[in-house]
Amino acid sequence: LHENLLKIALWSRSNSTSSSLATDNTTNDARFKGHDMLAPFTAGWQTTDVNPLVIDKSEGSYVYDINGKKYLDSLAGLWCTALGGNEPRLVEAATAQLNKLPFYHSFWNRTTKPSLDLAKDLLETFTARKMAKAFFVNSGSEANDTQVKLVWYYNNALGRPNKKKFIARAKSYHGSTLIAASLSGLPALHQKFDLPAPFVLHTDCPHYWRFHLPGETEEEFSTRLAKNLEELILKEGPDTIAAFIAEPVMGAGGVIPPPATYFEKIQAVVKKYDILFIADEVICAFGRLGTMYGCDKYGIKPDLVSLAKALSSAYLPIGAVLVSPEVSEVIHSQSNKLGSFSHGFTYSGHPVSCAVAIEALKIYKERNIVEKVANISPRFQDGVKAFADSPIIGEIRGTGLILGTEFTDNKSPNDPFPPEWGVGAYFGAQCEKHGMLVRVAGDNIMMSPPFIISPEEVDELISIYGKALKGTEERVK
Ligand code: PLP
Repeated sequence: LHENLLKIALWSRSNSTSSSLATDNTTNDARFKGHDMLAPFTAGWQTTDVNPLVIDKSEGSYVYDINGKKYLDSLAGLWCTALGGNEPRLVEAATAQLNKLPFYHSFWNRTTKPSLDLAKDLLETFTARKMAKAFFVNSGSEANDTQVKLVWYYNNALGRPNKKKFIARAKSYHGSTLIAASLSGLPALHQKFDLPAPFVLHTDCPHYWRFHLPGETEEEFSTRLAKNLEELILKEGPDTIAAFIAEPVMGAGGVIPPPATYFEKIQAVVKKYDILFIADEVICAFGRLGTMYGCDKYGIKPDLVSLAKALSSAYLPIGAVLVSPEVSEVIHSQSNKLGSFSHGFTYSGHPVSCAVAIEALKIYKERNIVEKVANISPRFQDGVKAFADSPIIGEIRGTGLILGTEFTDNKSPNDPFPPEWGVGAYFGAQCEKHGMLVRVAGDNIMMSPPFIISPEEVDELISIYGKALKGTEERVK
C-alpha cells in the first residue's frame, strides 16, 4: 500500500522535520552537524544525522539562514516575534536601558522604574475585567508555575488547604517546566519525565471537528464538555479543585479555537464551584486574534492571566502574571502575616526586558496593531482555507493571525495517515524548500505570522503553502 510513501517516511527522517530538502541545496551547514547543544524539543538522531538549520539574521517577516537563504517566518519564531525581525525602536529601548542601568532586581521592595512603568501599562491594557497587580517572570512556563504557587498561597490564606487541584485540558500547552508541563495535555511532555504531577487533572479538548458526536452542534458539544467538567469537579470534590487553566485559542496542541459558547459555559461551571479561572494568554495576547487579548474575543473574565512572547515581541525574555484585586488582596494580607511573599526570580522585572516591553506596548498602540491584525486576518485565513478541499487535508482552522492545518485521509479525523509516512514532515520540508518556515507536529502544521505581515507577504505565504501542498499531494495520492 502506497509503497512510495514509505520512501517519504525514510526521506523525511533523514532530512528531519525542519532541515529538509534544504540539505540537498546546501543551505544547511554540515559544519554544525553533531553540534554540542542538547537541543530543546529535538531528537538525538536529528542532531547527529542531519545538518541543523542555523538562522543568522532577521528582517521584518523574514529570517535568513547562515548561508543567506531567505525564509518567510510563518510562525514568527515560536509564535512570538510580533513586530518582526528588526524593529529599531526595540533595539534602541534595550540599548538606552543597558547604558543607564543594565540590571537591578525587584526583591524586598527595591525595584526599577521600567518594571513599575510596565506593570502600570500592562494593567491598563487588560480591560476584559479589572486586574490589580502584575508579577514579572522570564517566560510563559515561569508564568504558569507562578500561577500554581499563587493559587496555593491564596487557598492556604483562606484556610482551604485541600483546595489545591488544577484542571487543564487535553492537548493544551502551558510550557515545559515541571508544573507547566504537568498542566500541559500533550503526552510527549509527560512521557519519561514522571509527569504529570498528581494534583493536575485533564478534561476534554474542545476540538469540535475531532470530538463531536454525530449530529451534535457546536453549542451542544460545548454543553457536553461543560457537563463533563462539572462531573469531574463533583467526582473529585469541589472543595479540592483550586483552578482551571485554558488558552483562549489552543496553540501548540494544533491551533484549536473554542467552539461556539464554550467559554461562556465553562466559566459558569467554574464560577459555581468557586474555582479560579486562569487565562493562558502567552500566544493570544497583544493582538494575535485581532483583539488585544483572547479574553476580549471570547468574553473571558479571568482571575489570573499568563503573558510572555509578544510582551517584548520576543526581543528579550519576559513574562508576566496579572492578578485580580480579589486574589491579590488575599495574597497581600497573607504575606503580612508571614513576613513576605517568598516567590520570585533574580530577573523578575529585569529593567532591560521591561524597557523593551514598554516600547513594544507603545508601538502596538501607536500603530493600531490590533486593528491591523483584524484587517489583514481575513486575507490570511480565507487564503489558506481555500485549500481546505485538498484530499489530504482533514481540517484547516484558525482565527486572526493563527492557523493550523491537519492532514488526514478521507477528510476524516478518524483516518490519520500512518505516522511513519511523515506527511506533515514532508509538507514542512516542501515549505522550507520554497522559502518558508512552518511549525510541524506530526501531521499538524501551524502558522502564526508576525503582526506586521504585509498583504503581499500574506500572498507569498499562501502561494508557498499552495506549492508545498501540491508537492505533498503528489507524493501521497
Ligand atoms: N503557554 C502557552 C500557551 C505557550 O504557547 C507557551 C509556549 O509556547 C508557554 C506557555 C510556555 O512559554 P515559554 O516557552 O516561554 O516557557
